[in-house]
Amino acid sequence: MRALMFVGPGTLRFDDVDAPTIVQPTDALVRPIAATTCDLDHHVIGGKTPFSGFGPFPLGHECVGKVVEVGPDCAGVAVGDVVGVAWHIACGTCAECRRDHPARCLRHGDAQYGLPVNGHWGGTFSELIRVPFADYNLLKLPDTINPVHLASIGDNFALGWETVMPTVAGMAEPKIGVFGGTGSIGLYVADVAQHLAPGHAIYYDDDPVRMAVAQQLGIEVRDLRDGYDTDHDLSVDTTCDPAKLNQVLGSVRPEGYVNSVGIYFAPVEIPLLSLYVRGVHFHNGKGQARPAMTPILANVVNGKLHPEIVTSGVYPWEQIPEVLTSDNPGHKPIFTLDG
Ligand SMILES: [Zn+2]
Repeated sequence: MRALMFVGPGTLRFDDVDAPTIVQPTDALVRPIAATTCDLDHHVIGGKTPFSGFGPFPLGHECVGKVVEVGPDCAGVAVGDVVGVAWHIACGTCAECRRDHPARCLRHGDAQYGLPVNGHWGGTFSELIRVPFADYNLLKLPDTINPVHLASIGDNFALGWETVMPTVAGMAEPKIGVFGGTGSIGLYVADVAQHLAPGHAIYYDDDPVRMAVAQQLGIEVRDLRDGYDTDHDLSVDTTCDPAKLNQVLGSVRPEGYVNSVGIYFAPVEIPLLSLYVRGVHFHNGKGQARPAMTPILANVVNGKLHPEIVTSGVYPWEQIPEVLTSDNPGHKPIFTLDG
């Protein structure tokens, strides 16, 4: 089969590699229908992460696909099912998975698709992927929806849900600030924030393209260069910019919450005294994906969330290297394998 490889900064190519096979009885094999970039992939391709020197390795950890083979112990998925695939490799049954922390799975640690972390698990820009513990890591999609715009449900789109919903659950009319920057994540967060707190959610950015997308999502949009409110109950940092992170940390009320998706590869100076004086709950960490995929899907099916608005373009599979190494790959390019 062909697999898209990250060779080095700015260089991607398709290689012929051995196709994966069923190894464990709980495995499934999935052929992608549509795959997309995580916002992190653009930094990987640009040589801005510690992975620059590790190529070639298969890239990609977001896709929806069709199940083409299952091991004998798969009970929840069957051949022919259209599924969303979680970015992580998690068992679903260890103590951390049971606490809804599959990214901390005690059996597979940090293992994932598309980056050489704790083993090689292939990439979602490949024609076939092996999914261990398929009953847990896959989410069956109904035939009533077009799967293409759900290509991100196993990572960035799921982050939209998990950086907002658990924090504001139980708050009456929460005021939510969303600070965009990395590409798609802030827009997915904006979609969820507008759905959960209509009239009380604000998207801040300084990029006209992303601001126009946010406007289409129906959320109030403000130019970050004009300032920001400081009384949000929750602010979500998707800026990936140390100076903006400090603005986000200053945008919440006393004892408010800041959830940050990172990723900051270099040390960042944080005004801890200011955080201490006001009381700020700050979280920065990997997305847990799988637990959020189920409610995300339910809210797409009922028309409350709009991932198709976040998609910046749909391209044929052949164009992956060309689009992703171009000057403007877009904030969320989606590639379809079988047309
Ligand atoms: Zn586990």
